[in-house]
Amino acid sequence: MKPNIRLLLTVVVPCLAYGMPICAQETAAPNFSYTGDTGPAFWGEMSPTCATAPFARQSPVDIRRVIQDATLAPLDLILNTTSFTLDNPGYTIRAIPQVESVLMLNKVPFNLIEFHFHTLAEHTLDGQYPSMELHVVFQNPDTKNLAVIGVLYNIGRANRFLATLLTAGLPVKSTSPPVTVDSLNIGTAFTDTSSYYTYPGSLTTPPCSENVTWLVLQQPAQMSAAQYNAFRGILGNDFRPIQPLNGRVIRGTIKRANASDDQGTQPNE
Ligand SMILES: [Zn+2]
Repeated sequence: MKPNIRLLLTVVVPCLAYGMPICAQETAAPNFSYTGDTGPAFWGEMSPTCATAPFARQSPVDIRRVIQDATLAPLDLILNTTSFTLDNPGYTIRAIPQVESVLMLNKVPFNLIEFHFHTLAEHTLDGQYPSMELHVVFQNPDTKNLAVIGVLYNIGRANRFLATLLTAGLPVKSTSPPVTVDSLNIGTAFTDTSSYYTYPGSLTTPPCSENVTWLVLQQPAQMSAAQYNAFRGILGNDFRPIQPLNGRVIRGTIKRANASDDQGTQPNE
């Protein structure tokens, strides 16, 4: 398929102009989708980084075998209660904070720039899809590198953090006016921030920039079926297919393995 010039102009040019690694997420109208000829299989035509390559470090991945790393410390977070502006850029529900919060990673500060949702989840556990995933995106102001905390949701009891957003009112369409959520602390979205999986990856939407340190919380959160239906009804399928690890190792505060993986340790394989 020949390059889509319209897509190149609308996606690549703003990226170059503003030097913003998540610029595609900042545009008002989405240039990609999750189905058809703007779906994930064609994202590589919009941004070459999204294309499958032997040494690519793309996301999401299946979390299956995790090497325990005793040096991984609990996440170092300084979280402020602030108002957030919720909007719908056409492919997710996104919230932008009024006041910054900070994640310190190896003594390097990353500032909270936004959070957003995917249904189903993007990261899988032993090939199984949780119902939803929250991405809390932090960015280093100097390098523009990102650190994203992922929270996986299973259906269960109602979730207080999601209830706050639902009470404020989710923007249903890209044309819906932004919604202000007062006095929200993103910490209420997190489960146990001392237990997580981490690996080097990418944005899961074009331009698929490979500058993301992923931090997926080990303990899933719960959400009620009604809460799931409310998000799912707006988002539909907005999860990217699983990407190959290409030799990457997923480290964790705890080990993770399953029986079928043990065969992989045989010396003759
Ligand atoms: Zn995301």
